[in-house]
Amino acid sequence: MASIDPKFGEALKAYGAIDFNACYNCGTCTAVCSLSTPEDSFPREMVRCSVLGLEDDLKSSLKPWLCYYCGECSAHCPQTANPGELMMSLRRWLTSKYDWTGLSGLLYKSLPISIVAFLLAAIGVIVFAFNTAFNLETIMHAGHNFEMIAIGSVFTLILLPNIIRMWWFVIIKPGIKVSFITYLKSTWDLLVHMFTQKRSLGCDNNQFRWFEHLILVLGYLLLLFTTVFLDWFSSQNLFIIILGYVESAIIFVVTFDFVRSRIKKNKEISKFSQPSDWFFVIWLLLMGLTALIVRAFIDLDLLQHNIWIYLLHMIVLVQWALIIVPFGKWTHFLYRSFAMYFAKLIEADR
Ligand code: SF4
Ligand code: SF4
Repeated sequence: MASIDPKFGEALKAYGAIDFNACYNCGTCTAVCSLSTPEDSFPREMVRCSVLGLEDDLKSSLKPWLCYYCGECSAHCPQTANPGELMMSLRRWLTSKYDWTGLSGLLYKSLPISIVAFLLAAIGVIVFAFNTAFNLETIMHAGHNFEMIAIGSVFTLILLPNIIRMWWFVIIKPGIKVSFITYLKSTWDLLVHMFTQKRSLGCDNNQFRWFEHLILVLGYLLLLFTTVFLDWFSSQNLFIIILGYVESAIIFVVTFDFVRSRIKKNKEISKFSQPSDWFFVIWLLLMGLTALIVRAFIDLDLLQHNIWIYLLHMIVLVQWALIIVPFGKWTHFLYRSFAMYFAKLIEADR
């Protein structure tokens, strides 16, 4: 039997939920949501579960990930219970539940702890550079190695176990039977959703936002590939050099627009921003900007006398790779894609 926790609402507020107790269960939000279906009905159900504190039901639910935060439900709610923001808060809360280290929850709930983590990462880079007597060649070599080691270890030690936990909560624990063939057949859906996020096109008037996200994801993944595997900062190949410029410029321009939108609060989705939302867009913007400047300084033969810009890039990169990717909002990209995959598996079981 599901256990009710009346204090759950308070706990959820630490993840950014606001005013959802004002809900009087009218169902307008579900009616206006273009992604809600009779089989997967939300957000009202999620609001009710949150008010009642049905933690186990929420933990095994994929519905928070099926919402793409268009904000229509919040705009139409007669009680201003902000169901869209509640769905976002549930995604943050679920992220902390999937994370076996517990660090995700700590960082989401405490700004001082996040600041300390960012400072420690920055101090680590500066101490390392100091120990090399600020030798640019050694630092750049270490930076390149760090990228490769970080990708492998963050995925193996943090992200993979967390995806397995998510699978456990939503498929195994509720006793859903899925054949091996279904797992294999649905892999294509996982890849399609991961790279295109096409479900968000189902939200009304969302084409431009979808397009922005698409080129951001492609720009980010390509820049990762160009810097890590094509060694952009050391490359003499003109095609690789230009490719890296284009990718970092795309990241900078798109994230600049996201930051501007959050500052202006002119859309329903940007009215409420938690520290984790700011960290995500600002650090992505800084990654694009500092990468672009570093390569420009290399091409203008200025980097040797301006090592600080590479150190700044390294600090942003280390903070991004060790804090935001494994424990912050970056994980939403992964969990959302796997949610679509698991939803497909559950559908096959029906
Ligand atoms: S529209 Fe508002 S009041 Fe009505 S069910 Fe949704 S959250 Fe509750
Ligand atoms: S934010 Fe949009 S997609 Fe999410 S529940 Fe509300 S109406 Fe549906």
